[in-house]
Amino acid sequence: MKKITILGSTGSIGVSALDVIEKNPQRFQVEALAAGRNIKLLKKQIEKFKPKVVSVSTKEIALKLREALNAKSRVKIFYDEEGLKEIASFPSADIVISAISGSAGLIPTLAAIEAGKDIALANKETMVMAGEIVTKKAIKKGVKIIPVDSEHSAIFQCLEGSIRQNLRRIILTASGGPFLNFSRNELSKVCLSQTLRHPNWKMGKKITIDSASMMNKGLEVIEAKWLFNVDISDIDVLIHPQSIVHSLVEFIDGAFLAQMGIPNMKIPIAYALTYPERIINDLPSLDLVKTGNLEFLKPDIKKFPCLGLAYAAGLCGGTAPVVLNAADEVAVSAFIENKIRFIDLPNIMEKILGLHNSINNPSLDDILQADLWARRKTKKIIERMIN
Ligand code: MG
Repeated sequence: MKKITILGSTGSIGVSALDVIEKNPQRFQVEALAAGRNIKLLKKQIEKFKPKVVSVSTKEIALKLREALNAKSRVKIFYDEEGLKEIASFPSADIVISAISGSAGLIPTLAAIEAGKDIALANKETMVMAGEIVTKKAIKKGVKIIPVDSEHSAIFQCLEGSIRQNLRRIILTASGGPFLNFSRNELSKVCLSQTLRHPNWKMGKKITIDSASMMNKGLEVIEAKWLFNVDISDIDVLIHPQSIVHSLVEFIDGAFLAQMGIPNMKIPIAYALTYPERIINDLPSLDLVKTGNLEFLKPDIKKFPCLGLAYAAGLCGGTAPVVLNAADEVAVSAFIENKIRFIDLPNIMEKILGLHNSINNPSLDDILQADLWARRKTKKIIERMIN
């Protein structure tokens, strides 16, 4: 029986993970859940999965949750960042699914590693912001970090049983998002609801917008660098609109391995929980005849400059990726609030990157400072833009 903690249980990955757990009660048990403000869903999850402890974002929400729960419920309720750390390091868990969206996932993931938990990593910001610190700590603690992000799970699977020196490069696939065939002029007019209509994957708002701008792929390039210990220059991106090939690796003899399947996050989630074993699921099998042609195209960095910016930040290293990520989070929020246009996103991030003096081999404190600096600066830039 594997004992599981989920950070971000009411988000898209958290809900899919609980579905995998529910269908395999003989294998998995939920120990602890951390959510934000969605107490309606968290209450249902508590009643169904009976975790020992949960956490929510504030004391007020914790009180509301206690009120909503049956008086007999024994679950302990924590709140705020301290509560989140409590959940992340909860002693009896074997593995922590790190699925909080955005930079908020970094500190609790580090706490889980510190506590010696294996990590099923869905929060890419953990690696983007602090890849060096995280990977070093994981080695020191003897902790496995197993990717949940579909592309990285694909690469992880392709590299199974291979000799590391034989790897030539990693190729991340990208669907291209809803605006793949839009002209620059069309891109300047897109609205939020169009941006949220991802052709293949059902995900949270932030990552769906990042997919449309290709920032998501950019962040994934940096994530891959740390997860697989490869240079940024050995990571390529291919547009693959069908999202059937989830990523590929090339070895020095020219052999390629690709991992394929229907686009459904339950597959990489289950693999991260059972690795190296696999379990049966109730998903339809991939029908390659019905799928038809599989296309592969070169990404258009002129049309989607976020990808180029992420490569630049990744190559620069230090705190540059931290700043890029923070600027993206703030800018995407502003886009959701209708304050800026979709095509403003890369311009804002380029400005912030240009203003930042990257610190090499940053400490955790340097990282958090750079994150804060970039948030403030981005907000200022956006305010100036709209006034
Ligand atoms: Mg992905």
